[in-house]
Amino acid sequence: MARPEFDLTTIYDDVVRRNPGEVDFAQAVREVLGSLGPVLNKHPEFARSKIIQRICEPERQVIFRIPWQDDTGEIHINRGFRVEFNSALGPYKGGLRFHPSVVLDTVKFLGFEQTFKNALTGMPLGGGKGGADFDPKERSDDEVMRFCQSMMTELYRHLGEYTDVPAGDMGVGTREIGWLFGQYKRITNRYESGVLTGKGLDWGGSLVRKEATGYGVAIFAEEMLRASGTGLDGATVVVSGAGNVAIYAIEKVQQMGGLVVACSDSGGTLHDPSGIDLDVVKRCKEVERTSLAAYAHERPTASYGPAPLWEVPCDVALPCATQNELDHVAAKQLLSNGCRAVAEGANMPCTPDAVALLLEAGVLFGPGKAANAGGVATSALEMQQNASRDSWTFAHTEEKLDEIMVTIHRTCHETAEEYGSAGNYVAGANIAGFTKVAHAMASFGLI
Ligand code: NDP
Repeated sequence: MARPEFDLTTIYDDVVRRNPGEVDFAQAVREVLGSLGPVLNKHPEFARSKIIQRICEPERQVIFRIPWQDDTGEIHINRGFRVEFNSALGPYKGGLRFHPSVVLDTVKFLGFEQTFKNALTGMPLGGGKGGADFDPKERSDDEVMRFCQSMMTELYRHLGEYTDVPAGDMGVGTREIGWLFGQYKRITNRYESGVLTGKGLDWGGSLVRKEATGYGVAIFAEEMLRASGTGLDGATVVVSGAGNVAIYAIEKVQQMGGLVVACSDSGGTLHDPSGIDLDVVKRCKEVERTSLAAYAHERPTASYGPAPLWEVPCDVALPCATQNELDHVAAKQLLSNGCRAVAEGANMPCTPDAVALLLEAGVLFGPGKAANAGGVATSALEMQQNASRDSWTFAHTEEKLDEIMVTIHRTCHETAEEYGSAGNYVAGANIAGFTKVAHAMASFGLI
């Protein structure tokens, strides 16, 4: 009988028991642990030193009050989070999410995923994540600014270029990073560019950072398809979401010759069989911050409504909106429409049973921690530029992003083969990310 420290089921049960009600965190842990059996066979020392149990426990979790006043003078209190998950490979690194659904569970699952994703980039980055249960929708610029300033008034003491470096995530873009950075600078009286990434180009940001996650998803999908003898050129593609990741995934797919026929937002699905006009989507979402319904009003070929996005026939699906948005019903629909590849732009957008169905059917499946790692990798490039007081051209930075994504794909592919799961990018990503963090932790003694 397996000793408890060697038994992954016991380890998982213990995580569930110690983190009651945290279903997203449990799901993320289960998905990684599900790949680690062959690693423990090869490295029993990881089991003996309880590295898995240690990795499942965040190094530090900060929860704090964020009081702020709206434009009418009414006082609101939100809850802020920063989970500093693992610093074996570098300072904690991961975005901040502003969304009313954010609870500790959300931030822990994202921080856990981020640890392995950051390891896969090959850059010196630990894993962390943060956010607040704040809804920026329908709020004025002044209100969002006051919220950001209040959040940073607590958060700043936990940050630092060598300690913890947040970035954006859902609801947090360059505008919010600007207000957060401005308040950090004001409190500390230090111009520490490397303390936040996703900055504006005039004040320490990197070209390609805005595009990086979406571009990276398309590059990863292209690499998976090429490894099986095809490519995005001529493929029909659907992309969920219409935010930062989705918009630039669409842009790259279009550059690579794919036809994107549908995308979505929280209000519905936009279907345009003639091909999504990205300029109109960008105007709706990046400038006017409005619903995609406006797109359908001005383009007679398009429709916008409640029909599920995954019913639109496609060769390639890129879920780029939010967690658990693609379930087994959607996966069945994709399979019956002949979908050949799925790459996750969002974090954990596919439910475990959807992933199982897709893998069983032989669909090429790129898990988020590999496929969407281009954003954080380019954040590391931003940190490199800040440290050397330099700024690189778009072409140079994009070339580096391309190299990083190709290498992540190759690492996942080769690791899956090495551990007896050829073609399974989930196993490849989990094992490659885990072993890198585990080896570093083992070198540091009992930490
Ligand atoms: P944004 O806030 O920019 O965009 C999110 C988009 O998803 C919005 O268009 C939103 O609609 C839409 N959306 C939200 N919920 C749903 C839903 N249930 N159904 C359909 N659409 C929905 O976020 P990002 O693009 O930055 O992030 C998206 C995902 O990618 C998240 O999981 C994030 O963690 C992950 N990610 C982001 C990275 C980054 O660099 N930004 C890096 C790596 C991962 P609406 O416009 O109506 O609000």
